[in-house]
Amino acid sequence: MLQKDKILEAGELIKNSQKIVLLTHFNPDGDAIGSITGLYGFLIQVKKEDEVKMILPNAQPDFLKWIPHSKKLINAEQHLKKANDLIINADLIISLDFNTPARINDLQESLRNSKATKITLDHHLEPDNYANLILSDTSSSSTCQMVFDFAEQMAWKKYLNKEIAESLYTGIMTDTGSFRFDSCTGTTHRIVGELLDEGVEKSKIHGSIYDTNSENRLRLLGKILHEKLEVLYDYRTAFISLNSAEQAQFDIKKGDTEGFVNYGLSIENIVLSVFFVERDGEVKISFRSKGTFDVNSFARKYFNGGGHKNASGANVKKGMDEVISEFVTAIKTYKDELDKTV
Ligand code: 5GP
Ligand code: MN
Repeated sequence: MLQKDKILEAGELIKNSQKIVLLTHFNPDGDAIGSITGLYGFLIQVKKEDEVKMILPNAQPDFLKWIPHSKKLINAEQHLKKANDLIINADLIISLDFNTPARINDLQESLRNSKATKITLDHHLEPDNYANLILSDTSSSSTCQMVFDFAEQMAWKKYLNKEIAESLYTGIMTDTGSFRFDSCTGTTHRIVGELLDEGVEKSKIHGSIYDTNSENRLRLLGKILHEKLEVLYDYRTAFISLNSAEQAQFDIKKGDTEGFVNYGLSIENIVLSVFFVERDGEVKISFRSKGTFDVNSFARKYFNGGGHKNASGANVKKGMDEVISEFVTAIKTYKDELDKTV
């Protein structure tokens, strides 16, 4: 639950601002797109519509293009000047689903230079102290759940509609692994119940996110599970790497590798799964763990990344072989912890 005094402070800031910018992270996922469009859906009812703008550092993936209000998302990669101008001249910037400016890439400088009051609404661990008001709830399943909580405490529930509900449902569904993670509590389900009551078409949403594989993506998945999966049984770890040539061979685009990291964790007794992918001259790493093994700390300590206890990530400007060898060396010092993971 968010603290009442902070909610009231945020409410005052929203009331007194005419230029509000909502911002989410690079390579936005379901929770990023769901929370930004969900909050937008509320704000355009309590403010004038042209007082609220939504900015993404880069494009949303194709499987989220159907999201309500997504046509109004401003992609800074295509409209950098416009995005920077909006950020610089804003009265209020609300950042959603990220807790460190590094996650907005090229927009960091304008965020830093903006005179706007800055609010963070986010559920990631160990938030950086870059905003004036930090609404952080690391126990929340998703930023979308926090947007619901925020709206409820602002007495905005009367504005809840099917569009907002579909946005928020999407982020809760994707960030909880379709309602299976421990972060998905009774409260989460009660909120989801209220969203469904607004007419959310849940099988349609699930289908547009999970059943829109291209043939190429599925064939690539087959190839990497067959040829590239490495299992270190002594360290209860599985990992997969994917280089640029392999992506080109299957005409793979950003977003197409989403979810590949999870397959390693489906092997019996494996508690840590890692996916390395070459992208834009860097290696992007995804970490997933089970139970007590904390990949937020691991990603921070070795790769300057972060995220959640059981799902984190990092981007490293090094070659694939070097990154993998650093990873394997690091993991060998965690044998006791991995053995004990429950
Ligand atoms: P994914 O593996 O799905 O890209 O990310 C998993 C989690 O780690 C997400 O919650 C995401 O916010 C976080 N994450 C991903 N990449 C980075 C990164 O480069 N830095 C930080 N601090 N967190 C990241
Ligand atoms: Mn999230």
